[in-house]
Amino acid sequence: MATLVSTTLDAIPQIRTALRATFAGGVTRPIQWRQNQLYQLARMAHDERDAICDALQKDLGKPKTEVLAAEVGVVIKRALKSAEKLPQWAKPEHPEVPARQKLWKPTLYKAPKGTVLIISPWNYPMILSFQPLIGAIAAGCTAVLKPSELVPTFSQLLADIVPKYLDPNAFRVVNGYVPETTKLLDLQWDHIFYTGNGKVARIIASAAAKHLTPMTLELGGKSPVIIDSTCDIDLAAKRILWGKCNNAGQASLIHCQDLFKCRTGLIGVSFWQICVSPDYVLVQREKQDELVKAFEKHYNAFFPEGALDSPMFGSIVSDLHHKRLTSLLTRTKGEVVLHGRVDPARRRMEPTIVKDVADGDSLLEEELFGPILPIVPVDSLKHAIDFVNARSHPLVLYAFSENESVKQQLVKETQSGNIVFNDTFQQLAVDDLPFGGVGESGYGSQVMKYTYEAFSYLRSSIDMPKEAEPELAKRYLPRSEEAVKA
Ligand code: NAD
Repeated sequence: MATLVSTTLDAIPQIRTALRATFAGGVTRPIQWRQNQLYQLARMAHDERDAICDALQKDLGKPKTEVLAAEVGVVIKRALKSAEKLPQWAKPEHPEVPARQKLWKPTLYKAPKGTVLIISPWNYPMILSFQPLIGAIAAGCTAVLKPSELVPTFSQLLADIVPKYLDPNAFRVVNGYVPETTKLLDLQWDHIFYTGNGKVARIIASAAAKHLTPMTLELGGKSPVIIDSTCDIDLAAKRILWGKCNNAGQASLIHCQDLFKCRTGLIGVSFWQICVSPDYVLVQREKQDELVKAFEKHYNAFFPEGALDSPMFGSIVSDLHHKRLTSLLTRTKGEVVLHGRVDPARRRMEPTIVKDVADGDSLLEEELFGPILPIVPVDSLKHAIDFVNARSHPLVLYAFSENESVKQQLVKETQSGNIVFNDTFQQLAVDDLPFGGVGESGYGSQVMKYTYEAFSYLRSSIDMPKEAEPELAKRYLPRSEEAVKA
């Protein structure tokens, strides 16, 4: 792995001061300037795609096609689309008011929050760094981007290329480890957008609270899959495994093909390291074995030679995470039915399916973030709902059912950031749906307009004309009793 050059601690407050001065100077206000920066960001992703792919290959073993489809392509598409939609998003709104207040010109301005901090994780470092940045640019903010130290080659690359494309007076990359992030968090920001785990989120939220800084927290957690007995089990198994295995939504893939003519057949997978990955499956007890067989069938079809040496997916990010996963497996009381081979030296681990997992098992303790899929047998839909509700609110609840009333019951009786029926993962391909969590899976949301809104605030305004004076006369002092009654 490459060495990451940390930003010096002394430079960090100076960077924030410079960005605040740029914001105060009004440089970021014109819509055209923001559009220009978004075009530049898209250009950077396009022109530097080979370097980006090489960096993520080095850091995460991610195949090039996966990076192009799931990260580079999505960044280009969303930067360009945001530039196109921006004039519409930024337009002041005039709310419906009673007739007599129309004269007051009530207006909602979409105002940039100011100088913001974006802290991103390692698992999808490109999209999770630039999706927030696209929103910050669109909103007219200046920003510091702090990418993850766990992907040093990529984070170093960002520090090198971002200033070549974006205005360095408005957007800066700060690199480093905990001391550098802690230094950033000592300072006051106008918004902090953090994507990562809940433990660090608590550190960041405490630091933000000192300055009353508003936040977006995009966190993780265990996303369950409920299999209702009315569904087609074979198809459900295929779609769950695909969701575990494929990190490219159709839309971004198609777009990428247009952009780079990459081949669909080579889309790679790094399924275990995404926040929306199906984490465990709840299935009616009598359907469990049918489900296991269906998983085996589709696994063999997806990976005829097994997944260990397949170029179709990457490695576990670090030795620590590899050890954590193997330790979870050694402690499970469930029955391993599809045993993934492991190669610790290369941090590889094949998909592993474990059945008969019960409450209290090691595999149900924390977000797996790895290629392990526990199956928990349940006695009824109510049992599955109670199981989900007894835990922290998931980022995503997946459910497979052909029964509309079951779907509505799940909508009403559970809570999660997203609820997805009869597929996995595909929700990420819809640019117009907000993505975010609830409870322990975070707060606030992102994607396109919703990221723009995260970095903006609604500034209410009225503009009272002279002509309103007769109507306002009765408010002035001294007030007569008649005026008060009127
Ligand atoms: P990570 O270890 O890269 O950490 C994320 C960021 O936190 C990094 O920039 C890192 O520098 C910073 N950080 C780490 N320790 C810190 C500390 N002590 N003080 C201040 N900052 C610190 O990534 P991670 O947290 O392992 O990411 C994986 C988690 O993120 C999973 O839980 C996953 O579900 C979640 N996730 C959520 C989303 C989403 O959109 N909701 C997307 C991706 C990942």
